[in-house]
Amino acid sequence: MIQLHNVCKSYQKDSAALEEINLKIPKGDFVYITGASGAGKSTLLKLLYCAEKPSRGQILIDGQNVTRMGLGRIPRLRRRLGIVFQDFKLLNRRTVFENVAFPLEVQGRKRYEVSKKVFHTLKMVGLEHKLQRHPLELSGGEQQRVAVARALVIDPVVLIADEPTGNLDPEVALEIMELFKGANARGSTVLLATHDREMIRRIPRRVITLDQGRLVDDRAPYDTVPGE
Ligand code: ADP
Ligand code: ADP
Repeated sequence: MIQLHNVCKSYQKDSAALEEINLKIPKGDFVYITGASGAGKSTLLKLLYCAEKPSRGQILIDGQNVTRMGLGRIPRLRRRLGIVFQDFKLLNRRTVFENVAFPLEVQGRKRYEVSKKVFHTLKMVGLEHKLQRHPLELSGGEQQRVAVARALVIDPVVLIADEPTGNLDPEVALEIMELFKGANARGSTVLLATHDREMIRRIPRRVITLDQGRLVDDRAPYDTVPGE
């Protein structure tokens, strides 16, 4: 359902953030994208949610060529994606409820439907008692769970997360991972950029490794990782 053909991305000439990436991710897959800082993980995710355009190559999502997609159609695609940003990007002047309701409102859902879905999703992430709070009144782990709830509330076709457990203690990180596993079980394709080797060991899934913009390894769960 996601395909990349010879995708290259350069932000500046003479340096490539991604080079000749070829990749197929079937619907319902759960994939870790790993590699050192600067390897190109964020860039790969940004291409998928159309925050950046590839310099060359093609990207197909659900059969649609997003590379050629007109500007008008990008928002429509994005409305079906759940994105968890590294820095959360919550609306700090809005309540937790309003933050999670936002993507549903963008979809034009009816008010009762929005409320029902938001309550359900906040309950799932264990924050139903904090719905009138503002993000800055919450701990980092709670803010992260709001960000995850906002991504999950639309039952996304693809869930994309950039280092979602990076700054969390291991306990909270595992809870967040359980939420991603749940979304995956309900049908979302999950793409998760992470440095967290321990998490990959505990929850084994397909692992794609980038090194200086190149895809250097792509392995099924339980294959041993070099050096381990
Ligand atoms: P990762 O997420 O694996 O740390 P990135 O995708 O953020 O890697 O970065 C890959 C390379 O592209 C790095 O060399 C980084 O400095 C460069 N890069 C990323 N974003 C930009 C940008 N907006 N402008 C210029 N260079 C960028
Ligand atoms: P990551 O941990 O994903 O590598 P970074 O801290 O590298 O994140 O990047 C944070 C932001 O800065 C991103 O939006 C990225 O696109 C941008 N960025 C990264 N490297 C550069 C760069 N060399 N020049 C300009 N922007 C950059």
